[in-house]
Amino acid sequence: MSIRWGGEGGEPRSVEQHQADAVGLARPLARVELPLLDALGTALCTDVVAPWSLPSFDNSAMDGYALRSQDVRVAGNSDAVRLKVVGDVAAGRAGGASSGTVEPGSCVRIMTGAPIPLGADAVVPVEWTDAGMDHVTVTMPCESGSNIRRAGEDVAAGDVVLRAGTRVGPSQVALLASVGMGRVGVHRRPRVAVVSTGSELVEPGGQIHRGEIADANSLALASAVSASGAEAIRLEHLPDDPIEVFEALGRLAAEADVIVTSGGVSMGAFDVVKQAFASYDGVRFVRVAMRPGMPQAIGMLGDDRDVLYFGLPGNPVSARVSFELFVLPAIRTMLGYSSVFRPFVAARAASDLRSSPGKIEYLRGRLDAGVDPAVFVPVGGRGSHLIAGMAGANALGVVPEHEVSVAAGARIMVLPLSGEEWG
Ligand code: AMP
Ligand code: MG
Repeated sequence: MSIRWGGEGGEPRSVEQHQADAVGLARPLARVELPLLDALGTALCTDVVAPWSLPSFDNSAMDGYALRSQDVRVAGNSDAVRLKVVGDVAAGRAGGASSGTVEPGSCVRIMTGAPIPLGADAVVPVEWTDAGMDHVTVTMPCESGSNIRRAGEDVAAGDVVLRAGTRVGPSQVALLASVGMGRVGVHRRPRVAVVSTGSELVEPGGQIHRGEIADANSLALASAVSASGAEAIRLEHLPDDPIEVFEALGRLAAEADVIVTSGGVSMGAFDVVKQAFASYDGVRFVRVAMRPGMPQAIGMLGDDRDVLYFGLPGNPVSARVSFELFVLPAIRTMLGYSSVFRPFVAARAASDLRSSPGKIEYLRGRLDAGVDPAVFVPVGGRGSHLIAGMAGANALGVVPEHEVSVAAGARIMVLPLSGEEWG
């Protein structure tokens, strides 16, 4: 697989260039057939065609009485119409002649979803009647076709109801089930291995000594992987030992489709990932013109060079933002989604915002989309170690390279951080 690399030492790469590299290295994975519930969060690998219409037969939209609309033409408050009830039909019954035929002056008691009996052209809701059993009094007139759900008004047999690349969520499951599918063909979920590097890291819940910190990234990244629809494999953190890191990643490459590490990719003396891949030509270290998250590594690992690798910076906010921008679109490409980049939302800045020159700045904040126009409220500071601010944010406000500030009330593009349901 070949990519044109840049940004090593020289000019930083743009976010768009690095995103294009990430997505360009990813391929949709093989087809698998899954029971509907197991397919949640995956994407369809082929168009789905309806074998039958929806509704598949004319049926009642109400609990009431199926009748001939002309029989109740004169029904009104002073002039009620009395009809003989000749049958009963509930949802699940075959309908037709078995539930009684509606002749002039008669009707059939009907429940929501039940087939419309022969001879009837409308349903009056039970609320417009005295709810009689042998005879019923109808107090209001209705038009022909009232409260009848017509066969095929939702979907016609042979229609493409869902396109390849559509995410399977609750509403898609409802449609797939309705057209008779118990299983569905989707792209296999990528297995994404997540590893933190850093000799200062301690497994969360363990004893922490001075100078040590809890490993936040591998859990945060594994959570983001699971939310994306992929399968997370989490390894406990690795120490800053290049040989250990290189060997561990080599072993992981045998079972993963994607490997994501955090830490050890910048300019420090112990940048372990950089050292680990010093004599390996499948991984490149680049600088991306963004804040947070400037240093990035990307490449292919494994004997066949078919395992996508992301080396994210170690600061928790940098790692989280880098995942959103680069890893998530690559995972979605592997899942076969037709839409891989999160859509921006336009909002107004709630206060004056500052940003670094020459870099895209991703500011943590809260998007309030319940007002028009939507408002972006910054949360916490800009430091990439400020985990609490990140936890209070539900969105990133994006300030382009050439801007150094956004005035209160000015327009800002915002990337929501929650929900994977777009596309
Ligand atoms: P690095 O990119 O390895 O130089 O790390 C940058 C900063 O992020 C340092 O302060 C690290 O201690 C911190 N850091 C690295 N990995 C993690 C992690 N897994 N969880 C929390 N903080 C981390
Ligand atoms: Mg480190």
